[in-house]
Amino acid sequence: MTMEHFDFIIIGAGIAGASASMRLSEYGSVVLLERESQPGYHATGRSAATYEPSYGPEKVLRLIKASKPFLDHPPTGFMDTAILSPRGMMTLFRENQGSEYDEFMDILGSIGSGFEKLDAGQALKRVPILNPDYYHRAIYSDEAKDIDVHGLHQGYLRAMKALGGKVQVNAEVREISRTEDWTVTTRSGRFSSPVIINASGAWADEIAVMAGVKPIGLEPRRRCALLASLPQQYDIRDWPLVMGLDPSFYFKPDAGRLMISPEDSHPSAPCDARPEDIDIAYAIDRFERATTVSIRRPEHTWAGLRSFVADEMMVAGFDAQVDGFFWLVGQGGFGIKTSPAMSLITGQLARGKDFPQSVADCGLSEADLSPSRAGCG
Ligand SMILES: Cc1cc2nc3c(=O)[nH]c(=O)nc-3n(C[C@H](O)[C@H](O)[C@H](O)COP(=O)(O)OP(=O)(O)OC[C@H]3O[C@@H](n4cnc5c(N)ncnc54)[C@H](O)[C@@H]3O)c2cc1C
Repeated sequence: MTMEHFDFIIIGAGIAGASASMRLSEYGSVVLLERESQPGYHATGRSAATYEPSYGPEKVLRLIKASKPFLDHPPTGFMDTAILSPRGMMTLFRENQGSEYDEFMDILGSIGSGFEKLDAGQALKRVPILNPDYYHRAIYSDEAKDIDVHGLHQGYLRAMKALGGKVQVNAEVREISRTEDWTVTTRSGRFSSPVIINASGAWADEIAVMAGVKPIGLEPRRRCALLASLPQQYDIRDWPLVMGLDPSFYFKPDAGRLMISPEDSHPSAPCDARPEDIDIAYAIDRFERATTVSIRRPEHTWAGLRSFVADEMMVAGFDAQVDGFFWLVGQGGFGIKTSPAMSLITGQLARGKDFPQSVADCGLSEADLSPSRAGCG
């Protein structure tokens, strides 16, 4: 097998690897290795496609903020249509959920997000299937948007190819060794480089072990969703994403149908995740209790893995022990909406450059994302 040399080898062509490959292709030669025949087959292709600036741990909210300028104004020619489109989000609170209500108001206040307080009648006007016996009041924010995930992901890949980057699909990484440079052996070729970027999602610890690097303790967690049609009398197109807390669930319009998720989160080995019947049953039960509509049969169901490190903040940085091994992992349930900032950080740190000022201005530092921080592993 012949060997090709690159300045950067990126493993995994989900949103993390694709976005990092675009940034790094500006500065050197890049190969993006993907096991599947299509980039985006795993977590990236299975998300709820939502930009929600108040959903996530506090430091993740800063990454979301740092990503917004790119999502609003990507570089010229990146995509023909907007990445974000209006959706809005309505969070429902039952009568006994006063503390959750106060907590949510605090988060919205701290990130300066605009919102409207709605009583039960006002909420029902926006989403006429809500069950008035279930909830007491709601908070509406129009800052939640739909994300065109496919367009964003393809935009990153197109831009990296235009800069001379190479995407190699059907290239499962099977062996990693190191002499002076790394040598990565895949099903479809061998590649060498001084730097490996590990963006392999749920498989990131397996890649680390292959490279002789100590695993970071990543935990993939499975989440499922379903699509269902509502009776034709409902025009659902402009409904917001509706979120319920404890038991949690959400639903939102998705190309003429409703996407419903029970917000489940089950530890899983890295795999091609499939939904469990019991979780789909929970999704339907929670939806039916919160609304006046019954779901006879879901039209489509799926599951994906959201991968977390212990403190649930993301990781972007070189391993402290092994030279040239860069972690880009732990995107959890936020990897799409944070991909602009995470890739910007990777584009700097993987070249040994300073942490990007625009992300620092949102209150984050290199230490917050470091694989060696306390609380990460
Ligand atoms: C149900 C659900 C809803 C979500 N909703 C949202 C949302 O609304 N907004 C949001 O921002 N995020 C959301 N997320 C989270 C988001 O989808 C993830 O954070 C993001 O997709 C992670 O991207 P990734 O590139 O790290 O992983 P992945 O997309 O899984 O990519 C990793 C890639 O690495 C490849 N790979 C692994 N091992 C190897 C190997 N040995 N050789 C070669 N390639 C390999 C895999 O094939 C895969 O393609 C959601 C996730 C789920 C499951």
